[in-house]
Parts: sequence; C-alpha cells; structure tokens
Amino acid sequence: MTERLSEALNKTQGTEIIVPCSKCSGRTAHDVVSSFDQFGEDDSSYYQWGQHYQIIRCKGCKTVSFRDAYSNSEDYIQISDDEWENEVFEKLYPSRLEGRKDLGKEARYLPNDVNRIYQETVQALSNNSPVLAGIGLRALVEAVCKEKNATGSNLFEKIDDLANKQVVTPAGTSILHKVRTLGNAAAHEVKPHSETQLALAMSVIEHMLKDVYVIPKLVDAEFD
Ligand SMILES: [Zn+2]
Repeated sequence: MTERLSEALNKTQGTEIIVPCSKCSGRTAHDVVSSFDQFGEDDSSYYQWGQHYQIIRCKGCKTVSFRDAYSNSEDYIQISDDEWENEVFEKLYPSRLEGRKDLGKEARYLPNDVNRIYQETVQALSNNSPVLAGIGLRALVEAVCKEKNATGSNLFEKIDDLANKQVVTPAGTSILHKVRTLGNAAAHEVKPHSETQLALAMSVIEHMLKDVYVIPKLVDAEFD
C-alpha cells in the first residue's frame, strides 16, 4: 500500500481552538498563529489523516505554546445521539494539567535545591507520571525540612519539628503528614495516586512554599 503525503504551511493558521492554558488555569480560546500541516491518504483515498504542528497563543494571557494535533478518518467520538466527530489526538508543549497553575516566575525565590525538585515534580505532574509526581512531592517536603534544618530521625519527626520552629502552622503540619504518606505509597508500593489527589497535594505544597520563601522575599523588596 502506498501513501500520498502532502505538506503545507499555515493551512490551519487563524483557526481558534480551546485548550488548557498553564497561566490562566482552565481551558481558554487560543489562536493558531502559525502551522505546518501534513495530510496523507492511501491509494484508494479510503483512509485519510492529518497532522498539524501549531504555534498557538492564548487569547487571554497571550502566552505562546505549541500544539501537535493528529486525526484520521477511522477514529471518531460520539458527541450526541446521532452526531459523531473526528477524534483529535492532542499533545501540548509545555505539557500542562487542566486547571492547575504553578508558581511560574515566583519559583525563582525558592532555594536552588527546593526549586530543582519543584520543577521536576511539576513536570511529572503535568506529564501524566503519577508515581514520580508522588515521590517528587515527598522529596519536596524533605528538601524544605533540610533547608530549614528540621531535626528528627525520620521525616515524620522532621515535619513536626517544622511546626516547632513555626515554619508551618499546626494545620499545615497535618497536611504535610498526608503528603508524606502519599509519597511513601508512591515510593514503596509503586502506587499511583489520582491526578486530582496529586494536584491538590501540590497546591498545598505550593501554598507552603509561598508562605515560607516567596512572600518573605516580596515583603523584603517592598518594605526595606
Ligand atoms: Zn492564558
């Protein structure tokens, strides 16, 4: 079976698509700014496919990113009782998790070691790697304990010492213990957690990172 392939520039330029935005948190309208589009079909023109490499820009925050969208004449999804639509297999770069907004530029206020683990964990979370994300969340808690010189013979005691040192509130401590057990399960039982659980745990950690590292730096800068 031979295949006919054609390529064109900007065939899908100017179209509007709805995809998750990493800055706006949620799905937003994006413009296709530029595209490289490929189309293929078999001899009989029975089977056809299209692959579109697109530079896209969020209409809200203007952030530019990249989309790879593939569809073919065989894969359909049902959208109502009697309506079907071509299924689009979509990859977004940088990858993102719908509804999640990370620390963005504020991450630069984190100590280097903490920031490195934070960035890797964000990657794992948005790249659908739940086991690694769980391990990363626990490693983040460990990195904060180390940076704040929390004492104790295990992570349990170190988290409690963070509370003694008033780095985190008692309420924050109980949440960190939850993240610790979540990381344990990921590391020792190779147990993946749901995206929702992990995203929530990450928001809690981000909240702590903001309290401990980001806000003090911003306050220093504003009220010197
Ligand atoms: Zn946006």
